[in-house]
Amino acid sequence: MTDYEAAILDVDGTIVRGEELLANVADGLHALDDAGIDRLLFSNNPTRGSDYYGAKLEPHGIDVDPQSVLTSATVSAAYLARTHPNERVYLIGNERLEAILEEAAVELTADPTTADVVLGSFDRGFSYGTLQESLQALENGIPFYGTDPDVTIPVDGGQIPGTGAILAAMEAAAGREPDAILGKPSSIAATAALDRLEADPERTLVVGDRLDTDIALGERAGMTTALVLTGVTDRTDIEAGSVQPDYVLESLADVETLL
Ligand SMILES: [Mg+2]
Repeated sequence: MTDYEAAILDVDGTIVRGEELLANVADGLHALDDAGIDRLLFSNNPTRGSDYYGAKLEPHGIDVDPQSVLTSATVSAAYLARTHPNERVYLIGNERLEAILEEAAVELTADPTTADVVLGSFDRGFSYGTLQESLQALENGIPFYGTDPDVTIPVDGGQIPGTGAILAAMEAAAGREPDAILGKPSSIAATAALDRLEADPERTLVVGDRLDTDIALGERAGMTTALVLTGVTDRTDIEAGSVQPDYVLESLADVETLL
């Protein structure tokens, strides 16, 4: 019998790379299902909602219930709707994140001087003008959140600046750090995942390719952690890292060895 009742699985670098399913990961997912372990997919991508990953994985024969998917976008939307109801959010972020926030009844404002909350995220349209606006909003001392901490995002042929790079610019201009990051590895994200799974952290396994988000989330929340080597982290990074996984797997395909 396995010790685990639930598993939190990262997506990019763990299940897929770009549009492609990583080799044999369906075996790992089926091993979890066969062991009676509830799985939750949790991506730090702040531009996608819960429906996206089901559609992405279905052609590969993997069933994904949208109720079993969280992203830093959906977690941010739920958090802001719950903790800042009827407050206006000034967003630096992608238009799909904007739609996810609006769907969760989060009120947005384009006017930084009337904002009650600032949310920073990945935005390809980020400019001197938006940085200036974020400074105006943050000068008022209002709550400042970020969707996720990822400084770069791996893409075909290299990497692009992510939310973390934009937050760093906002932080430098305003002279203040975000009050919280809402996606992985925050306790807000861990609680959202455990609530969705109705699981005990001590009986929950986290699998992901990033030490500073996936493994850090699990370690802080008292879960068991497994790093996969199919993404951004290699064995040298693990030795140098400040966070250590409980297990290292070549791939999610090998997760059965932990059950
Ligand atoms: Mg990943």
